Amino acid sequence: MHLRCVPGKYLKRNGINSILFVRKESIPTIVIYTLTKFGGGAREYKVKFDRSMGKFYCDCLFWNRLGIPCTHMFYVMKQEDVPKIPDRMVLKRWGKNIKS
Ligand SMILES: [Zn+2]
Repeated sequence: MHLRCVPGKYLKRNGINSILFVRKESIPTIVIYTLTKFGGGAREYKVKFDRSMGKFYCDCLFWNRLGIPCTHMFYVMKQEDVPKIPDRMVLKRWGKNIKS
């Protein structure tokens, strides 16, 4: 699924515009972004992006619970110029829903 297929509405509702960048750490093949939310208190989330595996992991566990990439992941995908959401990150059901 291409990132541009993700409806702006979805991202907006989940507050991608309110994501604040805190810091970025790079270790070979893995990038770790620390993000927080504007107006959302001091809670920080760490998003790990494994370049070699194309895998994402986020502290908020949104993906683990719902099977939909969270806005933190979307943020990192944008920053890292990831053109596609890895297939395994998207539930078939969700992919269908947003196709129009
Ligand atoms: Zn997250």
